[in-house]
This record gives sequence, structure tokens and C-alpha cells, in this order.
Amino acid sequence: MRRKLVVGNWKMNGSRAANASLLAGIVAGVNAADASCAVCAPAPYLSQCQDALSGSPVAWGAQDVSAQPGGAFTGEVAAAMLADFACTYVIVGHSERRAYHGESSELVAKKTVAVLDAGMTPIVCVGETLAERDAGQTAAVVSGQLGAVLDLVGERMAQIVVAYEPVWAIGTGKTATPAMAQEVHAQLRAQLMAKNAVAAETVQILYGGSMKPDNALELMAQPDIDGGLIGGAALKAADFLAILHAAN
Ligand code: 13P
Repeated sequence: MRRKLVVGNWKMNGSRAANASLLAGIVAGVNAADASCAVCAPAPYLSQCQDALSGSPVAWGAQDVSAQPGGAFTGEVAAAMLADFACTYVIVGHSERRAYHGESSELVAKKTVAVLDAGMTPIVCVGETLAERDAGQTAAVVSGQLGAVLDLVGERMAQIVVAYEPVWAIGTGKTATPAMAQEVHAQLRAQLMAKNAVAAETVQILYGGSMKPDNALELMAQPDIDGGLIGGAALKAADFLAILHAAN
């Protein structure tokens, strides 16, 4: 039985003041018996998250990482630095990174390995654009994205989290129906199974893309949807907590 996991991806939002009230609201409403949960904050605020969340059931993490271990890479943040702030999770391969920063699946695979090497859990994002879905390429696109990562992580497949985020559903208010999402999640599970059937049973596959309090329950009731990666709704404590409680 996989434990559900709900992760907030704050994207490039927040300020010290706004984060303080969001984090306090989450901590006040979370129960030890809830599903697992985490917030992925912009890198400058990881220290604030560590201060606010240490000792609570809420974990924290980052939204991206360098594939390089360190050195002359201006502006980059190494996995060891994120581990230094006690991050549990690091999102890799978000569609916004792939689209706006030209990240290839090969680079995403290297970042995944960097996160694992530093002792953290990568949340590997995959997802198709609307044009790809309309062209009947969804399965091929997501399996190519996941396959590049699986090829590189080998035996460590059991230590990753996968997030299926259809690009057309992100920030648009358009959610994949539970059946549409489950279909892709089942394909991803089958791909994991083909590599390692035992590990595939334990890998959490999250859904992301306009998950809200009013659709979270139905999505997370699907057999292969093990939680959510939440954008907009993660910026309000009440909405984030409602989604978390839908996962229980
Ligand atoms: P929204 O929940 O705002 O659609 O964002 C989803 C997402 O991209 C999470 O990583």
C-alpha cells in the first residue's frame, strides 16, 4: 500500500511575510496522521521553511537543482546545498523548466541522479502538451521522458517520486478527468513494472495540473494516483490543507 503524498509547488511566488503566514497556516492545520506532505519553495526561502517546519509533519524541498556538483556555474544551486538546508524533495523536469529553459530529458535524468546522490528524493515531472495529446502522442511522450530517467537511475528507481502533469492542465483550470489521468498513471506504472516489478509497487505517482479542493478526492481515489503536485492551490493554506485532507 502506497502512502499518499501531497506537495505544494510554490513556483516563483512568495515573500518572507507571505511565506510566514502560509507556513504557519499549514502547520496549524496539519495532523500527524495526515498523508505525507511537503512544500517546494524558491531557493532563497528554504532556510525560512526549515525554521518554520522543523519538528512538524511537513517536509520541504526545492523546485530545481543543478546537474553539476559545484564550481564555476554562476547562478546554479547544487544538490549538496539543498541537502544542507535539510530538503527532503527536489522537483526535477517541471514542464516550465523544459519549456522555458530548454531542459532535455537527458539533463533531467542527470539532475535526478544528482538529487539521489545527495540523499534527497527527486520528484520527476513528465507530461504532454495539448498538441501532443491531440496528435495521440501522450503515451510516447511521457514514456520517453520517464525512460530517460529510468535508464540512468537503474536500481535506485524505488527512491524516486514521479509526477504526471499534463502541460495543458497546468494553471489553466482545465483538469484531466480522473479517468484520463488514471490511464496515463497506469501506463507509467506499467513502465516502472517492466524495469522492476517490486519497486514499481512502491513508487508514488502524483498528479499535477489544476488540482483543487473540489476535484482532489476524485483524482486521488484512482488506483494509480498516489497524491498531488499542487501549484496555485498550494498558495492558500486552507486550499492546500483541504487537498491534503482529501488524500487521507
Ligand atoms: P497548478 O496547480 O497551478 O495547475 O500547477 C500545477 C503544477 O505545475 C505543479 O507543479
